Amino acid sequence: MIAGNRARLRFPSLFRHRMSIPIHDQLLPYVTQLPERPAEAVTLVVIHCTELPDLATAREYGEKVLYDSGAGNSGHYYIDRDGATYRYVPGTRIAHHVRGRNAESIGIELVNSGRYPNWFDSRQQIMREPYTDAQITALRELLTMLRETFPNLRHIAGHEDLDTAMVPASDDASRQVSRKLDPGIRFPWNEVLEGSRLERLTRR
Ligand SMILES: [Zn+2]
Repeated sequence: MIAGNRARLRFPSLFRHRMSIPIHDQLLPYVTQLPERPAEAVTLVVIHCTELPDLATAREYGEKVLYDSGAGNSGHYYIDRDGATYRYVPGTRIAHHVRGRNAESIGIELVNSGRYPNWFDSRQQIMREPYTDAQITALRELLTMLRETFPNLRHIAGHEDLDTAMVPASDDASRQVSRKLDPGIRFPWNEVLEGSRLERLTRR
């Protein structure tokens, strides 16, 4: 007991996260192609959902090379339905996850089927799947950890509020649907914001 307390005083950083969820590091193959940034550059967390059936499919999408740099689109963190949390990109690198706000943000993806597989079908623009309690608990713990790691982090936003572009519907090109709807109406904003000390940015 005494030895433990002494160690805690000498090495506080070792104990700070002892109650936190384990985060499984599964860095993407192209992670070193993503630009680096100092921790101080991060001011915003963007909440996404994968709009895909499962984590394995989300990983496939994340690994796809889409840019000349050798990189693709992905969030930094992924939270599966059982609350298991994975890091695909360190927060000190800029990932492609939201138009226009990548440089200052960390993207967190929750596994959720969303509109899959008819994302742009005008007759299926409802996000049906609820988020699990385990996902929301893990997200809250992850946000606490990120606030401790990134000193200027103070804002949080849904992807749908930052990217409001419309696209022609896949079933009827004369109709328009939202390019992004995540995390959607089933995301429990009040529960996530409570005690987070983060301010939500909404569409203007
Ligand atoms: Zn998104």
